Amino acid sequence: MLDLRLNCEHCNKSLPPNSEEALICSYECTWCTQCNDDFLHNVCPNCGGGLQKRPIRPAKELLQNPPSSKTIFKPIDMDKFIPLREKLKSVLPKDR
Ligand SMILES: [Zn+2]
Ligand SMILES: [Zn+2]
Repeated sequence: MLDLRLNCEHCNKSLPPNSEEALICSYECTWCTQCNDDFLHNVCPNCGGGLQKRPIRPAKELLQNPPSSKTIFKPIDMDKFIPLREKLKSVLPKDR
């Protein structure tokens, strides 16, 4: 089951299960569209993979399968991330 994390790992913006602004990588690292537009540029800082819009789990499903209860708030170390991003951002995720 997809882990629905309720905040952006970098800026801590609230990303409820019905948010249209939540992006995830294949490991479910969770980011907001604003951070992606501003500096992620489709590169996950943790794994280097691409990001996709997180699917919305219907409200009635959340009763049985609630969102994640733990908060991951780990602002990006830009000194490490920028070189990774510059290497990867022009490479399609399927070719990374
Ligand atoms: Zn963010
Ligand atoms: Zn990742």
